[in-house]
Amino acid sequence: MDGGWRLRSLSPKSLMKTDALAPGQTIGILGGGQLGRMLAMSAARLGLRTHVFEPGAVPPAGEVAGVTTTADYCDREALAAFAGSVDVVTYEFENVPAEALDLIEARVPIRPNRRALAVSQDRLREKRFLNGIGLATAPFHPVDSASPNAASILKQAMEAVGLPAILKTRRLGYDGKGQVRIEDTDCSADFLASMAGAEAILEGFVDFEREVSVIAARSVDGRIACFEPGENVHRDGILRTTRVPAQVGPGTRERAFEIAAAILNALDYCGVIGVELFDTADGLVVNEFAPRVHNSGHWTEAGAIIDQFEQHVRAVAGWPLADPIRHSDVEMNNLVGEDVADVPAIAREDGVRLHLYGKSETRAGRKMGHVTRVLGPATSP
Ligand code: AMP
Repeated sequence: MDGGWRLRSLSPKSLMKTDALAPGQTIGILGGGQLGRMLAMSAARLGLRTHVFEPGAVPPAGEVAGVTTTADYCDREALAAFAGSVDVVTYEFENVPAEALDLIEARVPIRPNRRALAVSQDRLREKRFLNGIGLATAPFHPVDSASPNAASILKQAMEAVGLPAILKTRRLGYDGKGQVRIEDTDCSADFLASMAGAEAILEGFVDFEREVSVIAARSVDGRIACFEPGENVHRDGILRTTRVPAQVGPGTRERAFEIAAAILNALDYCGVIGVELFDTADGLVVNEFAPRVHNSGHWTEAGAIIDQFEQHVRAVAGWPLADPIRHSDVEMNNLVGEDVADVPAIAREDGVRLHLYGKSETRAGRKMGHVTRVLGPATSP
C-alpha cells in the first residue's frame, strides 16, 4: 500500500472553527455535467443531499441529485431560491458569472472560494499568480486581439516567448478549445482572426518529457492530502489516458506535492484541486489548475481507498479529509465519442471499473464515460 502524501500545513488564518454539515444537509452544485453527477453520488453515499443548478436540459447530474434547478445563471430568482435551499455551494463548472456568485455568496459559503475561481478563470491572471508564488510556468505574453495594434502586439509577444508558441483565449477555454499553435510569424493575421476579438495570451511551447497531474485536497481547517501523481496523455487537446503511478523520480514526485500545497495554501483553498504539470529536463512547470474535481483524478475510483469525489465532498462539507491511500496501479481511459461502442467488450473484461455518464447523444469529442483498468498492486513510481 502506498500512503498518500500528507502535509499537515496549517495556516493560522484558516484555523477558525467552522460547523461541519450533518448527514441530511445539502450541498448545492453549480453545473450538472458528469463531474456534478459523480459528486452527487459520493455525497449520497455520505448521507448528504445535493441540489444541482444547471442551465441545460437533461443534465447528467440531474439523474442522481435530489433536486435539480434548470435555470440560467442570470436568473436571480432561481439563484436565490437555490442558495436558500442549500448549506454550502460548490461547483463543477468554472465559468459561472460573477454576479451569480455574488448573489449566492451573500447567503451561503462557496467552496472552493471566489478567489480560486477568479484566478483559474483567466489564464493571464493564473500565470501571474503562479509566478507570484514562485512557481514556474511557460513564458507568456498578453495579446489583446481586438486592439487596432493587435498584429504588432502579437509580433512583440512572439519575440518575447519565442516560437513555436500557443495562442490561447484568456477565458472559457477547455479541452484544447480556443487554442492555436503558431510555428512561424507569417500567418499571424489568421491566428488573430481565430481568436474572434477575445483577449488572448501567447504561451511559449514547453518541451516536456511527460504531462503529470496531482489531485490534492485542502480541508476547511487547512489540512492537505494529495493523491499519487498520474501521467497523462492528451489527443487533440482532450485527456485520453491517465496512468498511475507516473514514471517520475522521488524528487519530482515530492516537488509535485509541494507545488499543489503551495497553490492550495496561497488561495486559502477548501476542496479538491487538479494541478496539471509539464515534467521537463529543468523540472516541473505548471500548465494550469482546475478548482474542482478533475478528469485526471477519475482513476482514484479504482486505485485508492477514497476517490476524489468523496474527498471533495468531505472538504466542502467541513469534514476531515481521508488519507488517500493508493492500493493499485491503474490506467484510466476516457471514452470519447464513438469509443462508447467498445462498452460491451469492456464490460466483459476482468479488473475493470466502468463509468458511463448517462448522456443520450454521442458526439465526436464528447466525453461519454471512462474505464479504469487495475494493472496490479500499487508499486512505487
Ligand atoms: P490546456 O487547455 O492549456 O490545458 O492545453 C491542453 C493541452 O495542450 C495540454 O495538456 C498540453 O498537452 C498542450 N499544451 C498546452 N499548453 C502548452 C504549452 N505551453 N506547451 C506545450 N504544450 C502545451
